[in-house]
Amino acid sequence: MATSKNALKCSICGKSRNEVEVLISGQFGNICDGCTEQSMAVLAENKGLTFDDDDEDDDVELNYGSKKKPIPKLHIKKPQEIKNFLDEYVIGQDDAKRSMAVGVYNHYKRLMFKDKKNDDVEIEKSNMVFVGETGTGKTLIARTIAKLLNVPFAIVDATLFTEAGYVGEDVESILSRLLQTCDYNVESAERGIVYIDEIDKISRKSDNPSLTRDIKEGVQQALLKLLEGSEVMVPPQGGRKHPEQKMIKVNTRHILFLCGGSFEGIDKIISRRIQTNSIGFSVNRNKQEDAKENLLQYVNAQDLKTYGLIPELIGRLPVVTYLKPLDKETLKRILIEPKNSLVKQYKKLFSLEDIALQVDDEVYDFIVDKALEFKLGARGLRGIFETLLTDAMFELPSSNVKSFTLTINYAIEKFSKSKVYKLQSA
Ligand code: ADP
Repeated sequence: MATSKNALKCSICGKSRNEVEVLISGQFGNICDGCTEQSMAVLAENKGLTFDDDDEDDDVELNYGSKKKPIPKLHIKKPQEIKNFLDEYVIGQDDAKRSMAVGVYNHYKRLMFKDKKNDDVEIEKSNMVFVGETGTGKTLIARTIAKLLNVPFAIVDATLFTEAGYVGEDVESILSRLLQTCDYNVESAERGIVYIDEIDKISRKSDNPSLTRDIKEGVQQALLKLLEGSEVMVPPQGGRKHPEQKMIKVNTRHILFLCGGSFEGIDKIISRRIQTNSIGFSVNRNKQEDAKENLLQYVNAQDLKTYGLIPELIGRLPVVTYLKPLDKETLKRILIEPKNSLVKQYKKLFSLEDIALQVDDEVYDFIVDKALEFKLGARGLRGIFETLLTDAMFELPSSNVKSFTLTINYAIEKFSKSKVYKLQSA
């Protein structure tokens, strides 16, 4: 006979299904939301997490999940510490990492002082724009920061959004994503960070065929409201708003917005400006030569405006930073050095089979050369590595082999047989 839903009881406190909000059923018993929360508090205490009891200055109160939960204290990391953490995962891109470290540190400080009354000076938030070719690490920096921080974090793509009345998602659904990452705890979401990717695709100059020029400007206008800080009605599940839908009110005043884009062709705009701008900016010969190689490092708000972002939006994105195109040496370092580099990942995969994987140094150069040759950048490294190792990963688990060395000859042979890359070079 089937048990009725309400006959189920919490195996710990004995409350029945209709006396609790949530009852989680396991193989041998059930647990209610109240007991789960109590267990979490005990666990947190055992793990040494401290909870809010005084008002020390270097701690920020952050509230996660259910409002009933105690608020864990968070130790603010100094910019140098944030940068050091980024260094473990992101190779190069020092300027972007420094800007990010300072931006995030200041974000924490703003949160700390946000509730202090009788203070005339309000620190404004420093939303940021990252300009750099695709695959240079913009999203990686944002994701890595998310790992470090104990605030809700969401990544969204600007091309999904349209202004009200057009097909696509309303910009407010950016905040739906943020709410989803923190169990719809509004207080928590209001201190979060949002990374908006492909921000360049909603600028006038971008050749994004799915959005007309009017819509692009409309989306920029709609974004303004979010970026500057206001109360926004958010559809809990994202998508389009419906008149009869229940909305959640979110204040974006303390949400930090990071935007990234490749801004294709912006180097020409920078180059034109550097050569023609004589007011307050003198360019010496060396700098000009240097600029030819990497103009992006001189990118500023004016260039973003020329590119087609509306001045009001740029005004709300006060920090503009850049990511360098990846050269051969950087790509090689990316293969080897990051904490979870590709080679470390493959070594781990092999070690799970008790096989020691060795990779000859020349193979790294080979992989990088192929990634450059096929114009795949850092994103292509994994695919090429996988091509070289697929046969080994197929055959070795059924053998008694305990070590395997990926040599240059083996790599060349496997690569030459790869149909995927043959097609690409045809
Ligand atoms: P985008 O700039 O387009 O956002 P991503 O951050 O998504 O590029 O980079 C794609 C992938 O390339 C990352 O997941 C990472 O594996 C690798 N990568 C790119 N740049 C770097 C870097 N500077 N350091 C380490 N890995 C990188």
